[in-house]
Amino acid sequence: MPSPPLPALPCGRFAPSPTGPLHPGSLVAALGSWLMARRAGGQWRVRIEDVDRAREVAGAARAQLAMLRACGLDWDGEVVRQSARDAHYQRALDRLLADGHAFVCHCSRSALAAVGGVHRGPCVATGPRPDPAIRLRVAPGTRIAFDDRLRGRIEQDLWADVGDFVLRRADGLWAYQLAVVVDDADQGVTEVVRGADLLDSTPRQILLQRLLGLPTPRHVHLPLLRDAAGRKLSKSLGAAALDPAEPLPALRAAWHALGQAPLPADALETWRAQALARFDPARIPTDDAPWCVAHWTRSPA
Ligand code: GLU
Repeated sequence: MPSPPLPALPCGRFAPSPTGPLHPGSLVAALGSWLMARRAGGQWRVRIEDVDRAREVAGAARAQLAMLRACGLDWDGEVVRQSARDAHYQRALDRLLADGHAFVCHCSRSALAAVGGVHRGPCVATGPRPDPAIRLRVAPGTRIAFDDRLRGRIEQDLWADVGDFVLRRADGLWAYQLAVVVDDADQGVTEVVRGADLLDSTPRQILLQRLLGLPTPRHVHLPLLRDAAGRKLSKSLGAAALDPAEPLPALRAAWHALGQAPLPADALETWRAQALARFDPARIPTDDAPWCVAHWTRSPA
């Protein structure tokens, strides 16, 4: 079935999980996504992905928004919070259940671990559990391909690599894959620009879009920042949180990670204008960017 067309107005988004203040890797995603949307004369939206309330850190969303504001990364409309959108996810889930694409799954993690950790085909549970999960059925031979605007054609065999994936967890929480697809469609998102760590989620999201009759946005997966040992730079690895009082050094470093030539401006407003005028997506590296790390990591004590 052909996907419905995307809205004509380009619209990007930034969708941080509120698990801590904005860190350098997220700023690369935010800046890259903002630049792509604004250059195209499009909108840019912000969504706080707080479906997993246990992982939420108090005050993190406020700190993330303050950093975006300090950087001049302005957004359109209200900030959307996933925690207020249960009814939307439930409607999508009901449709997938009614159409026979989703099923109630009583398999425990340990039962699945015994068969290699992937759910494919019939459940392995021996009896019902009080809190079943709901999964999407992935048929054998389900291959999803898409064109990443930076990385070219990417294809995944969802049956072999992923299997039947969770839409609502046994603990009642919505799975990221379902929430993001429903939200991107409701927010009119046409450009998904985010870190390459989410590359292997994209085929699952495209499958859900097709089954729900939603348009598939265009995709760009930006390079990740890595430390010297090749690990994704993140707050769990001690990446310094960014300081809203000093947005320019953080923006310069994110700009550098996007492969762009240095800008002469030394004030935020001029820097922002120059960045918009000179941003060249063709310069974005497609390999991850360990060479940027020196700009961010604190020197060893
Ligand atoms: N919430 C995700 C994160 O903070 C990003 C999700 C997305 O951009 O699709 O990593």
